[in-house]
Amino acid sequence: MAQETPAGDLRLANLTKTFGPFTAVDDLSLTIAQGSFFALLGASGCGKTTTLRMIAGLEEPTSGQVLLGDRDIAGLRPYKRPVNTVFQSYALFPHLDIFENVAFGLRRRGIRSVDSQVREMLSLVQLDGYERRRPTQLSGGQQQRVALARALINHPQVLLLDEPLGALDLKLRRQMQIELKRIQTEVGITFVHVTHDQEEAMTMADTVAVMNAGRIEQLGAPADIYEFPATAFVANFLGQSNLIAGEVSGSNGDDTLVTARGARFSVPSARARADEGPVYLGVRPEKLHLAGAAVQVPAGSQHLEGTISDASYVGVSTQYLLRTSWGTELSVFVANSGTQQRFAVGERAVAYWDPRHAFLLGRRADED
Ligand code: ATP
Repeated sequence: MAQETPAGDLRLANLTKTFGPFTAVDDLSLTIAQGSFFALLGASGCGKTTTLRMIAGLEEPTSGQVLLGDRDIAGLRPYKRPVNTVFQSYALFPHLDIFENVAFGLRRRGIRSVDSQVREMLSLVQLDGYERRRPTQLSGGQQQRVALARALINHPQVLLLDEPLGALDLKLRRQMQIELKRIQTEVGITFVHVTHDQEEAMTMADTVAVMNAGRIEQLGAPADIYEFPATAFVANFLGQSNLIAGEVSGSNGDDTLVTARGARFSVPSARARADEGPVYLGVRPEKLHLAGAAVQVPAGSQHLEGTISDASYVGVSTQYLLRTSWGTELSVFVANSGTQQRFAVGERAVAYWDPRHAFLLGRRADED
């Protein structure tokens, strides 16, 4: 399904929304590339839905602009915008069958010959043969597909998805994530997806914006923000992170040197977001390795010793907590591949890592 007219990028310029004294969206500026799959990720209450509603025209910005290409659409009524929304609740019409639900947008525009377009849409969402069923006769996942077909048949230039998979169970949600990605690639429309589920955002989106308190904390490709988070908030929001509080003590060639409780570490300067003062040294749990306390760690790696304080079996891996002598608990994921050594609670062990997998974040002096 090709777009009828090129939409251009979606740009939010200094977008702000206040409710009385409360600022829900705070001077937000970002560009969403045409045809990309963009995720707004953040905890409940951070302002994601309000941002989406301003793009849709369901909420009026207190200030700022919503631009599609060069056109400011902030003044347009919702139905005049080349934008459609899929909600978590699906909002299907219960008294209409699936065919008529999908045909709704075309009929409202007075289009008589809807048959081939409806069938094309049902085929896109893999619901051929369901035309005469009522929404209540479909599963949650199928209803979600109908909602998607009903929105896409209008050929919007931007599709907004507000927690569209939130009502589905985990397995179905994972299936639909892959399905949504396939559909987005096929139709080539800009998708803006709101979610609080980091795995969902990273699975589907080309670009993820992590929101916190009405602002964007970090924006980038999933692997980039996961591997090299900009703030402690992002590091913790996107999965688990071990953040060790320390101070920059200098540099050595291409490395930034860090001291934490008397121990010395280094991080490639290219992976350091601070080059002086208080910092967090960060290492993801899957980048840590565990060995018995007496084992010589590989040359070039860095390590911390401690006592195993917890071992939780989580299927593909076991999560160990290693309590260091100064009380920090490091989380370590060890794959349950059958060849990995196992550790018991109370055992002494050493966690080591390749310094190229660590990162450095600025830290406020009063943090930690
Ligand atoms: P959730 O994932 O829970 O939907 P969210 O990140 O989408 O959260 P928003 O719905 O955008 O968050 O809300 C942001 C903040 O603005 C919240 O603190 C919310 O209470 C507040 N808010 C939203 N709508 C209104 C309103 N109409 N009047 C007053 N406050 C509002």
